[in-house]
Amino acid sequence: MRMYFPKPYLDETVYSLLARYQVHAGSVVGEHIWKELFQRRRLTIRMDLPAHLSIIAEWAGMDAQELLQKHTLFPFYAAFMSEARRKSLADEMIHGSGNKILYMSGHMAGGFSTHQNFRFCSLCVEKDRALLGEAYWHRIHQIPGVAVCSIHEVNLGEFPDTKALRSLEEVLYEPVNIDPERKSKEVVGMVKDAVSLLEQENRIEMNFRAKCMARVKEMGLATLGTERICEEKIKAFFSMRCHEELFRMVGIQSVADMSRWLKSILHRERGLYHASRCWALIRILWGDLASFYQSDATWQPFGKGPWPCLNRMAEHYGQSVILRIKYRNQEPRKAIFRCELCGYTYMKKLDG
Ligand SMILES: [Zn+2]
Ligand SMILES: [Zn+2]
Repeated sequence: MRMYFPKPYLDETVYSLLARYQVHAGSVVGEHIWKELFQRRRLTIRMDLPAHLSIIAEWAGMDAQELLQKHTLFPFYAAFMSEARRKSLADEMIHGSGNKILYMSGHMAGGFSTHQNFRFCSLCVEKDRALLGEAYWHRIHQIPGVAVCSIHEVNLGEFPDTKALRSLEEVLYEPVNIDPERKSKEVVGMVKDAVSLLEQENRIEMNFRAKCMARVKEMGLATLGTERICEEKIKAFFSMRCHEELFRMVGIQSVADMSRWLKSILHRERGLYHASRCWALIRILWGDLASFYQSDATWQPFGKGPWPCLNRMAEHYGQSVILRIKYRNQEPRKAIFRCELCGYTYMKKLDG
């Protein structure tokens, strides 16, 4: 008979919930917790994307979807996935054994380490202890690439990823590295964007690639007609816009590495990307998440056609008879307008 199971705190990870259960139930439980909950002797629960959510939700007296959306990093990873991939990842986490999670979440695609340190904020610890009597692992601190608390804007403390369940209170008994230095505006802004991706539950979808392509065209970093990326311009742009800290946050080694990765996004429509790199790219190309949402997936620098013929000798002068324009590949911000009725051709160039 089930005697007791804790309720998750606000933004607490499932891993943390189970670790607290283990502590609350007492050390006598030991392996029994796994037998009791999962009918197994041992089980690894991931901090970011745990499996077996249907069982855990039942124990916690909650809906599995709620656990998935509010207590795992699923919404962050799912933000850049197609609907079909989202569904299958959710299904694996709720009903599956978890074996396919690393592949399905894009961990393998990003060249990311599949393990990362567990993180906590010492000021959140103080606050939680005062309010709740105990500290717990917050989800917003576990986003890959995030090294700062978005609430207190200080560096997070770290603890090596562990296969065994360790509650934050247990970990805090040991000496841990804390660097309570305030971070730069740029880094804090980026972390806040990541948290908002996590909290808004799957708003971005597969037009991510199209939006990126439209944006690089708009910035003159790709040709308009053939969508060829101007490698040198991209590299120059990245060197100018990104500082080392930002690259380090998302595990990117160099400007060349970043531009290679951008190319792979732009040219593989149905690819699987690591969410952290997509998040970094939004920061680089748009500045912030809000501007990304407002931007269009198509960019029509010369407006919607048809366009007028400018041949003063022709009767149809000024009438919109040109249906197609050609972009000049060497000069991506120039287009050629050719009238099919009279053959008159003119060129237009974008400002800036
Ligand atoms: Zn904090
Ligand atoms: Zn004409």
